[in-house]
Amino acid sequence: MSSPENISTAPAQPASTLPGTRFTGVGVCPGRAVGPVLSMPEPVAEPENAPRDSGLSEASAVESLESATAAVAEQLRARAAEASGDAKGVLEATAMMATDSMLKKAALKRISGGKTEERSFYEAAAEVTSMLASLGGKMAERQRDVRDVRDRVIAQLRGITPPGIPHSDTPFILLAEDLAPADTATLDPQKVLALVTQDGGPQSHTAIIARSLDLPAVVAAPGVLQIADGTEVHVDGAAGVIDTGITEELRAEVEAHRVRRAQISAFDGDGRLADGAALPLLANVGNGADARAAAAAGAQGVGLFRTEFLFFDRDSEPSHEEQVSAYREVFEAFTSRGTAEAPAKVVLRTLDAGADKPLPFLTDSQEPNPALGVRGFRTELSSPGVLARQLAAVAEAEKAAGEGVDVWVMAPMISTAEEAAQFRTMAEHAGLKTPGVMIEVPAAALTAGPITEEVEFVSIGTNDLTQYTMASDRQLGSLAALNDAWQPAVLQLIGATGSASHGPVGVCGEAAADPALAPVLVGLGATSLSMSAAALPSVAAVLRTVSPAQAEELAAAATAARSSSEARAAVVAQLPALQELGLA
Ligand code: PEP
Ligand code: MG
Repeated sequence: MSSPENISTAPAQPASTLPGTRFTGVGVCPGRAVGPVLSMPEPVAEPENAPRDSGLSEASAVESLESATAAVAEQLRARAAEASGDAKGVLEATAMMATDSMLKKAALKRISGGKTEERSFYEAAAEVTSMLASLGGKMAERQRDVRDVRDRVIAQLRGITPPGIPHSDTPFILLAEDLAPADTATLDPQKVLALVTQDGGPQSHTAIIARSLDLPAVVAAPGVLQIADGTEVHVDGAAGVIDTGITEELRAEVEAHRVRRAQISAFDGDGRLADGAALPLLANVGNGADARAAAAAGAQGVGLFRTEFLFFDRDSEPSHEEQVSAYREVFEAFTSRGTAEAPAKVVLRTLDAGADKPLPFLTDSQEPNPALGVRGFRTELSSPGVLARQLAAVAEAEKAAGEGVDVWVMAPMISTAEEAAQFRTMAEHAGLKTPGVMIEVPAAALTAGPITEEVEFVSIGTNDLTQYTMASDRQLGSLAALNDAWQPAVLQLIGATGSASHGPVGVCGEAAADPALAPVLVGLGATSLSMSAAALPSVAAVLRTVSPAQAEELAAAATAARSSSEARAAVVAQLPALQELGLA
């Protein structure tokens, strides 16, 4: 494999990356890769607010800014031409923004006032973003493009590497402190072989991105940022290790592993255990495009539609019409997969605002402890009416979507049976016949019996259930070892939910996408699993090798283990299919 073109200026290799160095983190997506690393560049610092050098004329400052914006637009257009899907759209929109006339006018005004071209562009971007924010709706969403262009133009003026996912003509392993949701759009899975981060945990955005793209990934690996760009490393996303010093033998092993993984065929839309018992495999989605991709990947329905993902950056509640149209788009992606007699299920989660998912119009950014604050269903206390209006929009969208789809609704962050009953009343009032709740708070797991007397189903959110059971922030890389759904305490709570529940028990947290953990969840009582569409083939392939009795044995072994690593090791030892399919 040849080296990426932009790694020639890599700093001298630090001693810690000498061949034979091993870095250990937490594996969050299985798979192995060998390749050169490329790090995410440092964020672009704010330009100093000092007057322009008296030797630099206004005309030359204007010229240098114009050539920087033109160069950025050209680079983005060239990348858009090579990209596909969401990345293409994002890059094209950002390229247009680079030469936007409003931005240019605001910058030129400041240059003629004596400011540097960097500072002028920076302030112009601030003026345009606040104007977009005040317009709200779709316009407010363009603020991100303006900030991205601002940083790229400033980097171009300074002659430094542009921000965001590094660009390379050849495949590489991406090294970062952590990734943000916005990075997903420009991450090209054809170029990125694996993800490695120093921070982040199993429920972090990096882990979610890795699973959605099915990229081998290791998070919370201390010291990895010392690895110099261009150093060839081996990443093992199941074992959670990164090694330098690549031998021919290791290269052959990784290739053999890749061949084993390649045997896993696309998901055929029929989740089953070894004895033929049905175990529906559903998808987690955030919008219509995700839902269409999930339907194309064979998902049997949607197990988690995260509606808050539609409205980040909004400072006012979305209108009824906007909500109906956004929900309808997701429902309609599945109408043709179902019939009036056997409709496809779509589980819509009402707005889960707060903590890692703030919504400016619903949550208080000043709360001292947002993960334990007014979030999820609790926002009904602080903003009464928003939930009822959302449910009314869901009901209208369901009617409009036709008979092929069966909409279930669930509330996030439920702690008591009273809250579950309150949600059921609200859902029924809106005409929604299948209300349910998420089990993601230990109190709810321990009272799943009374809760399921109030609602039709539950869905276990293992991301938050792990965070709250282990009292460890899901976003903190330093707590990643605690923040692991393999922790026996978490497995016990999942088992308690499974055995006490009266109706269907879904699992929609990231744990469901782990092909080694999926059979354990089934053994603990899960009746369906929901995951990012990319995980469907691996999870389906493993489940087809496991009988219900074996799933119970695996669940018992994992729950009785003394630690998360022992739990995982016990399952890997008892389930040879994981090795045979290249998933362990
Ligand atoms: C969870 O907590 O497991 C879950 C599915 O919800 P989210 O990750 O959106 O909080
Ligand atoms: Mg949650």
